Amino acid sequence: MATNKVDIGVLEERTSWLLHPRFFPSKVGGKPAWLDLKNLPNPQELECKRCKDPLVFLCQIYAPYEELDECFHRTVFIFICRNGTCCRTNCAENFLVLRCQLPRKNAFYSYQPYEENENEEFPMDKWPKLCNLCGAKGPSHCSKCKKSFYCSRQHQILDWQKGHKEACLQLQAADMVKLNNFIVTDAGKAVLFKEWEIIIDEEDEEDVKDVDVNNEMEKLHKLMQEKKAGTLSNVSEGELDEYTRTMPEDKVFNKFSKRIARHPEQVLRYDRGGSPLWITGNTENSVMNVANCQYCGGERQFEFQVMPQLLNFINAGVDVNSIDWGVLAVYTCKSSCTQGPAYKEEFIIKQDLTN
Ligand SMILES: [Zn+2]
Ligand SMILES: [Zn+2]
Ligand SMILES: [Zn+2]
Ligand SMILES: [Zn+2]
Repeated sequence: MATNKVDIGVLEERTSWLLHPRFFPSKVGGKPAWLDLKNLPNPQELECKRCKDPLVFLCQIYAPYEELDECFHRTVFIFICRNGTCCRTNCAENFLVLRCQLPRKNAFYSYQPYEENENEEFPMDKWPKLCNLCGAKGPSHCSKCKKSFYCSRQHQILDWQKGHKEACLQLQAADMVKLNNFIVTDAGKAVLFKEWEIIIDEEDEEDVKDVDVNNEMEKLHKLMQEKKAGTLSNVSEGELDEYTRTMPEDKVFNKFSKRIARHPEQVLRYDRGGSPLWITGNTENSVMNVANCQYCGGERQFEFQVMPQLLNFINAGVDVNSIDWGVLAVYTCKSSCTQGPAYKEEFIIKQDLTN
């Protein structure tokens, strides 16, 4: 039974400063806690492949390879386009996955772990400026104060409308400005998802006894349909009930529901080298070709999957009804190679619960 040990991730609220890069967090929402602070992806690399808008940070998983010195620190980041129109069934084009890794001895962090001290100085002035709104690399700045930086014109305009207009005058007068603190501004809340820490722990080895699988299935279907209803706003509840009733029996979905019943609140399953827990058996992309690593040419392997439950959490306070997924399965270079840029693109499959 211990043959397939899986780690699962659940969410906990955490003060923002504890999710600073120096603590190597696994987290959802807010600004990305970059690992390599210098060689950040350029704004063009963080554009949606469909609509060209800046992608927004969704989550990051801190997952070192204990056996490799160059992966003493290792984080995989997922970005998503906020535009619902870019979200298509069984298509992951609105996502971007980036892998970054560092040896224990590196230019950014101390060799020993940091203590949890809020006021510890962590100078950022050597490293590229970050967008005041979204925390991505910010090569442009406000021409008035020259102290607020942006990844894109879109985020500069939004920041101006949602607070910088007032802050700008104060910044112009200030001589010392602390930049890049990774804290989400009020304006940022309009764009970024709610911030959470992901706590990762081992999955229980046994199924919950007497679990009402039908009930679990219904809950999940309901969640998916609510998301669907967000895009098709005039679907009535009666129609949704009808949809549930006519859902064909799906063995894969059955297995999925049973397995997640062990930890119904899970948002992440981490199983490097294992296989994803698919949400459904009836897919167009069931034989999914995972491309080899474009940097070393080597094979990729499954590393982790993001669960649809996460949609319940990022939704809070932000209207993202049109974004959804069944499972997001992330595949990364098996050898976690060092070739290529500091942030290396990896592979993601989006599987939806469709009938
Ligand atoms: Zn888009
Ligand atoms: Zn930005
Ligand atoms: Zn300004
Ligand atoms: Zn590789």
